[in-house]
Amino acid sequence: MSKVMKFGGGCLRDARSIAQACAIISAQKQAVVVVSAVSGVTELLIAAIEQAKRQERHIPPVLSALKSRHFAVIDELCPGGPAEKRLRTAIGSQLSRIGRLLTGIACHRDLTPAVRARLLSCGERLAARLLAGVLECLGTRSTALDAHLAGVCTDENYENASIDRPRTRKVLRPKVAPLLSRGIVPVIPGFFGRGPSGAITLLGRNGSDYSAAAVAFAMNSERLEIWKDVDGFMSADPSRVPTARRLERLSFAEAAELSYFGARILHPRTVEPLAGTRTRVFVRNLEDPAGAGSEIVPGRSGREEAVASITANRRLAVIRVHGAGIGSRPGLLAGVSSLLGEAGINIHSVLTSQTCINLLLDPADARRGLQKIKAAANGVIRKIELEERLALVGVVGDRIMEKEGIYARIFTAVAKEKINVEMAAAGASSVACYFLVRSPDLDRAVRAVHNEFFP
Ligand code: ASP
Ligand code: MG
Repeated sequence: MSKVMKFGGGCLRDARSIAQACAIISAQKQAVVVVSAVSGVTELLIAAIEQAKRQERHIPPVLSALKSRHFAVIDELCPGGPAEKRLRTAIGSQLSRIGRLLTGIACHRDLTPAVRARLLSCGERLAARLLAGVLECLGTRSTALDAHLAGVCTDENYENASIDRPRTRKVLRPKVAPLLSRGIVPVIPGFFGRGPSGAITLLGRNGSDYSAAAVAFAMNSERLEIWKDVDGFMSADPSRVPTARRLERLSFAEAAELSYFGARILHPRTVEPLAGTRTRVFVRNLEDPAGAGSEIVPGRSGREEAVASITANRRLAVIRVHGAGIGSRPGLLAGVSSLLGEAGINIHSVLTSQTCINLLLDPADARRGLQKIKAAANGVIRKIELEERLALVGVVGDRIMEKEGIYARIFTAVAKEKINVEMAAAGASSVACYFLVRSPDLDRAVRAVHNEFFP
C-alpha cells in the first residue's frame, strides 16, 4: 500500500528545506510525492504574464530570477556528476519553455486561458524536476512525472478545474504503480491536470493539496501526508492568538470550513477526492517530522469540546443590495448570482433578509461585482452599497450545533469586549458559525472567543 506525500511551497523555500524534504522522502518505502511550486514562484509567473503583455524586455529578468532560485538549490545540494547534469538540463529546458510562452504573450499582447494555465503550471513542473533531481543526486531513485501525462484528469475549466475521479484512477495508476514497484519515487507536480481535450487545466490557487488527494485516491493510498511549514491545524492562527494550540484530530467537514474562509492550511477541496475512501489524511510539519501533526478524519472528530478552532479573514468585501421585500422577490437572488457567476466572480456566502441581500466576496472582485449589479439594477433595488471594512470570524466545531449555549457563549464573549457584531450566520453549516465585525476589531474578537473556549 502506497503513501502520498505532498510538499507545499513553504517546504520548498531554499536548499535547507528541500534537503529536509529529501531526507523525509528517502526514509520511506513506497511514496508518491506531489509538490507545489517553490515558494513565491507562482506569484512571480502571474506578475510575469502582466509584464510580458506590456513589454518583451521584462522577460529576461523573470527567467534569470527563476534560474537563480532553482540553480541555487542545485549548487548547494548536488555533488556534481551525471545526475546533476541531467537535472540542470531538465530545469534549463523548462525555463526555455517559459521563455517561449512569455514571448508569445508579449507578441500577442494577450493570452488565452489555455496558455495562461500552461504557463502557470510551469512553477510546479520546475519544482518537481528540482526535487526529483536532488533526490537522485543524493542517491534516492526518483523521476518527475508531469501531472497531465501522469493522468491527473479534470473537467474543462482552465482556472478552477474539478478532478475527474474515475478517469484519474484509470489513467494514473498504471503509470505510477510500476515506478513504485521498481523502487523509484515519482514526483508529480500539483496544481494542474489535463482536461478532456488534453489541455492543461489549473485546480485553483493552492490547488496542489487537491492534486495530492486525487493522486491518493487514484493509488488507493493508505495515507496522504500534507507537509507544511506549520504544526498542523491550530485552535487559532498563532500570529493572532499566542495561546493557540495544535488540534490532534479534526473532521473533514471542520477542515473544509476552516480552509474555506481563513486558515490557509489546506485547499478547501482537498478532501473531496477522498470521500468514501479509507485513506487517512495528516497535516505534518517539515520542521518537526517527529511531531504528530493533525489528522483529518472522515465522519466525526471524536473531540469532546464543542469548538475546534476560531478562524479569521480580513480579506472580505460585502455588497449590500437594498430594496423593499427584496428577500421574497422570486428570482432576484438567482439573477444577482448568475450575473456575478457569468463575470467569473465567486460569492463566498449570502445573507438575506426582507430588505437586504448581503453578498460576501473577495475584495479583488468587489468593485467589478458592484458595477455589474448596478448596471443590471431594476425598480426593486433601492440602493447598492459596497462595504470594505468588515472582517469575518468563523467558529468551527462539529458539535457546535448539538450543545446548548454555544452561540450564547460566543456572542457574550464578543459583547464583553464591546465589539459590535455586524452580521451573523449560523446553521448554514452544521459545523460552523460565522460573524462579521469591523476590521479593526477582528483580532480582539478572535482572542475573545478563543479565550472563552480555550481558557
Ligand atoms: N503554486 C500554486 C499556488 O501558489 C499551487 C499551490 O501552491 O498549491 O497557488
Ligand atoms: Mg504556492
